[in-house]
Amino acid sequence: MKTILILGAGTGGIVTAKEISRYSGNEEDITLVKILVFEKEEKSVFSPSLPWLMVGDRKPKQLYENIKKLNTAGLEVINGEIEEVDPKNILVKVNGKVYKGDYMVVSLGVEQVIDHNLDKFGYNFFSLEGATQFHEKLENFSGGKIAILVSSLPFKSPAAPYEAAMLIEDYVRSHGLSSNTEVSIYTPEKGPMEFAGKEMSDELKGLLKGKGINYFPDHQVTSVTENNLKFSNSESYEYDLLAFTPTHRSPSVIRNSTLAGKSGWVDVDRNTMETKFPDVYAIGDITDIPLETGISLPKIGVFARHQAEIVAHNIGRKMDNKDPDQTFTGEGEYFIEYGKGLASPAEIHLYDPSSPGVKMKEPEHLGHWSKWWAEKYWFFKNF
Ligand SMILES: Cc1cc2nc3c(=O)[nH]c(=O)nc-3n(C[C@H](O)[C@H](O)[C@H](O)COP(=O)(O)OP(=O)(O)OC[C@H]3O[C@@H](n4cnc5c(N)ncnc54)[C@H](O)[C@@H]3O)c2cc1C
Repeated sequence: MKTILILGAGTGGIVTAKEISRYSGNEEDITLVKILVFEKEEKSVFSPSLPWLMVGDRKPKQLYENIKKLNTAGLEVINGEIEEVDPKNILVKVNGKVYKGDYMVVSLGVEQVIDHNLDKFGYNFFSLEGATQFHEKLENFSGGKIAILVSSLPFKSPAAPYEAAMLIEDYVRSHGLSSNTEVSIYTPEKGPMEFAGKEMSDELKGLLKGKGINYFPDHQVTSVTENNLKFSNSESYEYDLLAFTPTHRSPSVIRNSTLAGKSGWVDVDRNTMETKFPDVYAIGDITDIPLETGISLPKIGVFARHQAEIVAHNIGRKMDNKDPDQTFTGEGEYFIEYGKGLASPAEIHLYDPSSPGVKMKEPEHLGHWSKWWAEKYWFFKNF
């Protein structure tokens, strides 16, 4: 019987496990393929809903499930921190024990690091705890300056700070606080969602402007104190409430392994997602895929999911002694929350040089409900 090692039970890992089990014909009492999933956390958090949690549209417990509830035939979840990865021999070490596989799929996401003591003064809204605490502060907020800070590049979900700002503006307005509150975004980016091209970046800037949100690109934070942000261009900002994105790094277990490329992230064939080691794949946020524009493929869940489906399918074919026949094409759909029950659908085509890259529609109710449905379906399908 073949054994598949899946590293990480986030978006990519869960989809890979489900798809391999389905493809290989595992059933409740028939295990044809052994699927071992390694995960350090007990909770699997659905991150796209964190901006809703910030403004009280979700309770924390609506955003996660226990990973032990992953119910897939032939799957075993091993809860523990991965200590070592040996891609050449397809081995992982967890809780002091070594596991050997025939195939390996690495989906370990990003390691979040807090620089400048940001967590002493503000809230990391890329975590369940930080988004929850931000909401507790917002509930008691009576007006003032709210800052959304992108602390460094790259960061996953490039629309998330903009969604957070637009939802916060919505909250402020509907709670009668507009006249004495300002919402500002500070970021080192040159413009919002740079990978998407100038047209879409300008459209998103237009949405922010229409809502009266101040936007300060090209601002790299250098120090933070209570109520004050300082930037490398010598500017500063006095804030009352701060939400921030953490620094993103490749997880240390990968940086210390032979899988790490020059950047520390994992280099892959951008179509098959196979690494330089045969039968070892990497998907999702942990990969670095440079595009023709010189910007890397954004780290978004929709790509992690598509890549997982393709890799699972191709591993299934290999196990059947058939050639892999699916490739990842850099396509996906993304929904950018605007507030007022609206979201802008954005169609992404990043491998096709003849396409505009990303096409964003005006905010619409259907976009919001598509995002709502994606959350419900995720929990229904997987747990
Ligand atoms: C606020 C926010 C909003 C977002 N909104 C969207 C959206 O609207 N649409 C969208 O497409 N994407 C969105 N994303 C991005 C999306 O969540 C990620 O791109 C996606 O989860 C990446 O999947 P992954 O499998 O690569 O990594 P993850 O889902 O992060 O999974 C990695 C897993 O590996 C585990 N792990 C790491 N190191 C170890 C170790 N040493 N040992 C054991 N386990 C380990 C982690 O605990 C984690 O469970 C959002 C993200 C955030 C933070």
